[in-house]
Amino acid sequence: MTCKECFSPLGYEDHKKAMDLVGVELCERHRKLIENIIKEKDTPKEAIQLYYALKNAGVNPMLEWWDGNKSVDIAISRVKLNIDIGTDYELMTHKQALGELEEAMHSFKNGFTNIRIPHILVKYYLKDTVKYVIGIIEGLKVNLKAV
Ligand SMILES: [Zn+2]
Repeated sequence: MTCKECFSPLGYEDHKKAMDLVGVELCERHRKLIENIIKEKDTPKEAIQLYYALKNAGVNPMLEWWDGNKSVDIAISRVKLNIDIGTDYELMTHKQALGELEEAMHSFKNGFTNIRIPHILVKYYLKDTVKYVIGIIEGLKVNLKAV
């Protein structure tokens, strides 16, 4: 068992605490960093899981990236891809939906691609989710070259 961030070996206690918090193996130092991010930004734990799964797959993601208007759960800056983890689908009102459409408009105008991934996909289909995100990144790379 090693920390997914710094690869230092983990003891039983640290492993358990990190798994209880976010379900990702982290040392004490990195667990506390993530804990602070969650406290400050209300980051869903599925965003942390996807972030490390992407890192593990060789992608260079950023956690809680500020896009000028709001904080994005995960950003892949090379291809201007922003990923938000959705946790509140059933509760969405018309106003929120309209707000999302407006946000999407601003993103597209600035050359960003935004995707929203329901948290249950990360929970139950993490491998496939990572596979499709990588596919999207590859697609964006091709399109960037074409411009
Ligand atoms: Zn660490």
